[in-house]
Amino acid sequence: MQKEDFNEGLLGFLDASPTPFHATQNMAAMFTNAGFVELDEKESWQLEEDKRYFVKRNDSSIVAFTYPKGAKEYLMVGAHTDSPNLKLKPNAVIKEHGVVKFGVESYGGLLLNPWFDRDLSIAGKVTYKDAKGNIKSTLIDAQKPLAIIPSLAIHLDSNANKERSVNKQTDICPILTTNDDFEFDSFLRWQLHKKEILDVDEIYASELSFYDTQKASCVGLHDDFIASARLDNLLSCYVGMLSICSVEDDRAMLFIASDHEEVGSQSAQGAGGSFLENILHRIFEDYEEYVQMVRSSLMISADNAHAIHPNYPSKHDSKHAPYINAGVVLKINANQRYATSSETTAKFLEMANKVGAKTQQFVTRSDMGCGSTIGPITATRIGVDTIDIGIPTYAMHSIREVCGSDDAHTLYEILVGCKL
Ligand code: ZN
Repeated sequence: MQKEDFNEGLLGFLDASPTPFHATQNMAAMFTNAGFVELDEKESWQLEEDKRYFVKRNDSSIVAFTYPKGAKEYLMVGAHTDSPNLKLKPNAVIKEHGVVKFGVESYGGLLLNPWFDRDLSIAGKVTYKDAKGNIKSTLIDAQKPLAIIPSLAIHLDSNANKERSVNKQTDICPILTTNDDFEFDSFLRWQLHKKEILDVDEIYASELSFYDTQKASCVGLHDDFIASARLDNLLSCYVGMLSICSVEDDRAMLFIASDHEEVGSQSAQGAGGSFLENILHRIFEDYEEYVQMVRSSLMISADNAHAIHPNYPSKHDSKHAPYINAGVVLKINANQRYATSSETTAKFLEMANKVGAKTQQFVTRSDMGCGSTIGPITATRIGVDTIDIGIPTYAMHSIREVCGSDDAHTLYEILVGCKL
């Protein structure tokens, strides 16, 4: 796939995936279109050689794999479906000072200031009882701007440009309407009604997030950049998803996109949970063969990397400071915040060299901390040799992040193993 088509698809995927649930649903649809067969963890599996499969857990994590005859080792690619955001609390509605506003919890390490003065919408999962007494869940996406968090005017806070801080409980409640007749239950029923779900007896619970309605776009004199919400890490989800759809049937490849990375991965559907291990055990039922496969495989943990910011260059080690559009970044950390080793580096560089792709290296400043990824967690959990790589990105965890328009396609070529 050419870069322009690839990037157009990326923008569409980002816009259509405001929550991990929607990202998972969109990936599942893509896998189904590409001939993958869905498996249910609660049923028994009869895998057939040379077919392709995918499995979901909690509607927010997904694994896809090929199953070629006699496969003894897998190229695994890992990413995460979640991004920092503002989540609605269960009793969200607050009516005061002439408006209806929502109480929210911040999810993950989000940069709060960029959430002010944005046209926000709401999306997520709603779980309800239907008229026949069945408990069901469905995804909603209001799509239109429904709420906004206005900044405090500079006249009311003259030190704003020097020392404004943001209180997560009191300062970031999105306002929804001046009409105090508003009822949250009616709002949810209306959202279900729009999906033609009419047999709703009782709405039990919801997991809803705010998101920015501004669409993803190409930015720059030569469309050098891509600006969007959730580039961390839906960009890697998109690359992994397209890669496994593009490889030949005889190539043993597995792609996993996990929820809850931004809050530490410790959940049933997170990378610290049993999802991947359970699936690998079911593909390789014999324990001896399972261990041999894991120890022969390579996990490429794909997550965004901090590009050196042109206005804040001192935040990087100048010898390990990735540039935008200068290639995929290998992430290295002596304290194992990244799982990269010299041997997994060599394996990845061999793959990059095969398609003539450029790479760069990132090591954080020794006097600064560094984020982590699903890489070390997956390596610890199942014992697979792992490399942490990613696409250079500015403004990570902002409501609008920025990456280059070349780099994701380069990673795609590396994973597929040919120039496209
Ligand atoms: Zn990430």
